[in-house]
Amino acid sequence: MTDDYDLIIVGSGPNGSIVAREVHESSPEARILVIEAGPQITGVAGEHLVEVDENAMNASYEDLMRRARQIEYVKGAMVEIEGDGWNPESTGVFPAAFFGHDFAQFPGASLSWNIGGMGVHWTAATPWPYAEEIPGFLPRAEWDADLETARSLLRTYVGPLVENPFTEPIFAAIRAAVPSPDPEREFGYMPMAGIPHVDRPFARTGPRDIAPYLFDASEPNVQLRTGLFVTRLEHDGARVTGVVARDLASGADVRLSAARVLVAADALRTPQLLWASGIRPEALGVRLNEHASIDGDVVIDAARLGLTDADIPTPPAGEPFIGSYWSPSIGAERPAHGQLMEREFDGKHVLGVGWYCATEIRPENRIEFSDELTDPLGMPRMTVHFSYSENDLAEIRRTKDVQRAAANAIGTFSDAESEVLPAGASLHYTGTVRMGPEDDGTSVVDTDGRVWGFENLFLAGNGVVPTALTCNATLTGATLSVRIARAISATL
Ligand SMILES: Cc1cc2nc3c(=O)[nH]c(=O)nc-3n(C[C@H](O)[C@H](O)[C@H](O)COP(=O)(O)OP(=O)(O)OC[C@H]3O[C@@H](n4cnc5c(N)ncnc54)[C@H](O)[C@@H]3O)c2cc1C
Repeated sequence: MTDDYDLIIVGSGPNGSIVAREVHESSPEARILVIEAGPQITGVAGEHLVEVDENAMNASYEDLMRRARQIEYVKGAMVEIEGDGWNPESTGVFPAAFFGHDFAQFPGASLSWNIGGMGVHWTAATPWPYAEEIPGFLPRAEWDADLETARSLLRTYVGPLVENPFTEPIFAAIRAAVPSPDPEREFGYMPMAGIPHVDRPFARTGPRDIAPYLFDASEPNVQLRTGLFVTRLEHDGARVTGVVARDLASGADVRLSAARVLVAADALRTPQLLWASGIRPEALGVRLNEHASIDGDVVIDAARLGLTDADIPTPPAGEPFIGSYWSPSIGAERPAHGQLMEREFDGKHVLGVGWYCATEIRPENRIEFSDELTDPLGMPRMTVHFSYSENDLAEIRRTKDVQRAAANAIGTFSDAESEVLPAGASLHYTGTVRMGPEDDGTSVVDTDGRVWGFENLFLAGNGVVPTALTCNATLTGATLSVRIARAISATL
């Protein structure tokens, strides 16, 4: 094996970008190659779509985001931007079913196909996990330090999006309706990844903000190659010896090699690539977990909050939201998290009352990979087995009570307006390549993100997250990526 690169990373989303940056910052001489299958989606590689000025995508982003439902974004994006199908020249986010997979039990699940992954599309909510959501087997001081680093890489900001007289009355009303025994976990601003501006939209963090030199080619030791789809990792059972990728333009196979490989190709395609490569630990694709999404909108009753509709602020052009709020989970007593997005929609001043409640981690919820059937890229076809347990259903009912209490503190909300979204719709899938403290068949990687039994194969992304989250998954996955990058750097 010729060690052409010190590190090859598969996937240019937030997690691949964090590992590239952290390894580069610690070992600037290391030669790093990031391979990305998808094309560039805007004029500036890796920038968030909200940053694009003169682009239809921006208007589309704003319109779709105003609905404040990620599933609508995916469906809307697919119809408005790409028509109703996927092909290798497409860019955007597509339902996994578009690739021929059987996701009937997980229909909301989607895949990104563009430079920067979902990190150029995301809403950028970056709440942090709490209590049981934090992997208990990791040293707490290390976790806390890595969380701080991840927050700074994602530029997590806690504060107003625009000056807004509704904010304090909303805080007071919901703090009374959904109280927290811990002042640190009181209803307040949603932590958002990005930088606020007065005259333009909140600048959401995209992967190019994490590792600029990866996307603008200003650092020769950190390269991005796009249009290459990794189909196989060659290995001898203990070391990855080569990375085989298809050049999507010519159809030719390209073989690359590196002393270390990190796969950050999302929670669905990371285990798929391992399976296709004959790396099949018992826990691969097993214990797929996702919080249940309970959605709804309530029209804000201005008079009840001591205001009038004339007080509704106008956000800068291109910014879909007036306010973004967080009802944090408080552990076992209330393992549910609210993401409440204030906006004007359909001519009404509404608060999205979306809640995520944790679901049980169960081996029955898993991805099955086919040895016979393939997707359009020649990769193993995936079938997802996913259902809610009795406990999950009880938790969903309890969370609806929380949602109802919060919504009725702001306006009038009936049970009919509360909707449990299709499984997969949160786009926060975890557990498919879980981290664990020992090789006991329930995890795929060790606490360094290294695949059990392999010396030089590392994984990162939401799939590595071993716990049942209430919060949006990206910051938690990013925290583990900081840890994994440190472990990789230690081998350089
Ligand atoms: C509309 C929307 C809103 C969202 N809002 C939030 C939010 O508010 N908060 C939150 O926490 N999360 C949110 N998310 C989810 C968040 O974007 C993801 O958690 C995050 O992007 C995951 O990062 P990643 O790097 O692991 O994977 P991705 O961003 O999915 O990137 C993976 C990359 O790998 C590439 N790839 C895959 N397979 C291969 C291969 N074989 N060869 C080469 N390249 C490959 C893909 O093309 C992709 O670019 C949202 C997502 C969307 C779409």
